[in-house]
Amino acid sequence: MDESTQKEAPTDTPADYGYCSWHDRFSEGVRRIQLTEAGSGGKVHYACPQCVHIFKLTPYEDQ
Ligand SMILES: [Zn+2]
Repeated sequence: MDESTQKEAPTDTPADYGYCSWHDRFSEGVRRIQLTEAGSGGKVHYACPQCVHIFKLTPYEDQ
């Protein structure tokens, strides 16, 4: 079983295409955002790179 090949994803993989919860539109390169603020319920949202920068979000994998 060789799982190493599955980790090599191209930068333009469709897997990065998703719905940005911040500007309410689909966008490429979305990042998973884990909201931990009180009242958010720990919901997982996705944000595009632009919104990550604008709203100073912390992508899930960077925590
Ligand atoms: Zn966005």
